[in-house]
Amino acid sequence: MTLAELQALDRTDPLAPKRAEFLLPEGVIYLDGNSLGALPKRVVARMEQVVQAEWGQSLIKSWNLHGWIDLPQRVGARIARLIGAEPDEVIAADSTSVNLFKVLLAALELRPGRRVIVSDIDNFPTDLYIAQGIAELRGGYELRFVKKDQLEEALDEQTAVLMLTEVDYRTGYLYDMARLTRLAQQKGALTIWDLAHSAGALPVQLNRHGVDFAVGCGYKYLNGGPGAPAFLFVARRHQEATRPFLTGWMGHQAPFAFVPEYLPALDIRRLTVGTPGVLSMSALEAALEVFEGVEMEQVRQKSLQLTDLFIELMEPLAARYGFQLATPREHHRRGSQVAYRHPEGYAIMQALISQGVVGDFRAPDILRFGFTPLYLRYEDVYHAVQRLEQVMQSGLWQEARFQERAKVT
Ligand SMILES: *Cc1c(COP(=O)(O)O)cnc(C)c1O
Repeated sequence: MTLAELQALDRTDPLAPKRAEFLLPEGVIYLDGNSLGALPKRVVARMEQVVQAEWGQSLIKSWNLHGWIDLPQRVGARIARLIGAEPDEVIAADSTSVNLFKVLLAALELRPGRRVIVSDIDNFPTDLYIAQGIAELRGGYELRFVKKDQLEEALDEQTAVLMLTEVDYRTGYLYDMARLTRLAQQKGALTIWDLAHSAGALPVQLNRHGVDFAVGCGYKYLNGGPGAPAFLFVARRHQEATRPFLTGWMGHQAPFAFVPEYLPALDIRRLTVGTPGVLSMSALEAALEVFEGVEMEQVRQKSLQLTDLFIELMEPLAARYGFQLATPREHHRRGSQVAYRHPEGYAIMQALISQGVVGDFRAPDILRFGFTPLYLRYEDVYHAVQRLEQVMQSGLWQEARFQERAKVT
């Protein structure tokens, strides 16, 4: 594909107008929306309003007057549309890690007598760490963390929960959610899906596949801003029996009755804990407005075209400089990112970032490029590969400054 052909694709792209809804730094090609989504312009205006008018002027009246108290449910309902859930099955709260803690404990409680938690050993570490903490807290649990190709045989009549991240954060491998959910449930287990790299990136159908619980992230493809609230999903059929263990007042049936005895809320609010972060919750709410009128199928189609294009344009570089594709080529196994392994991956990525192409690095050797169809152009893919070629050809990456490891990679 030539640059002119790609520019022609951009001109007819139905999602192209969305780009103008984001504030993007001049000259930067941002391929890290899978780690921190770009800033939607409407978030800036909303922040101004929440801080100046709501907090500044209406002060505490805002909880009622500006509906702050309902933010977790309102935001949850907006996310529900993107993940194939009903509005009352999703709520925004806490971080992904904390939400996983809450739903994993609740799910184990729903499978008394079963003592095994199954997951992918390559799952995002926080998910594995949370399971380890819970296993220690509860005692007597076996953590069965295995490779992807051993998952199926790891499921048995002892399995309480199968806990997976739909899209692998390193490689972009996309699980068959329908199949694994079915296999786990055939053994009588419950499923928890982490949608950190799925929500806002590709169509998710939680209810169609009969998923039990899910959690996900607000600051990646949902563009809610650094440290944005996360979300959780509980299928309606489980809500009444789902027992909260972080029993804070916001999850109480009547928080403002101020009674000493805890009674869980009758709906999904029982899985909230304390006062919501109104500023960050408002930012996420505004960010989600960007998805209005956007069909996730449309996002998916462009995402696959962008990642296909990147893989194709990278082929000569991969051969010449030893980049090893770690992302599946099959569309049905690929999320919205492309990853390459390279022993000098860290330095190469730092050099590339210095040239205005922002991806990231994941230990031990992964260069990760995220593709966000709402604000990326086909043309950007072309220029990103060009700049990487320059970084390799010039040997820029070998400069000592690119070897220095920062705290956040
Ligand atoms: C990004 C990510 C998280 C992040 O969890 P936080 O609690 O927000 O830090 C969790 N799980 C997965 C799979 C992720 O990719």
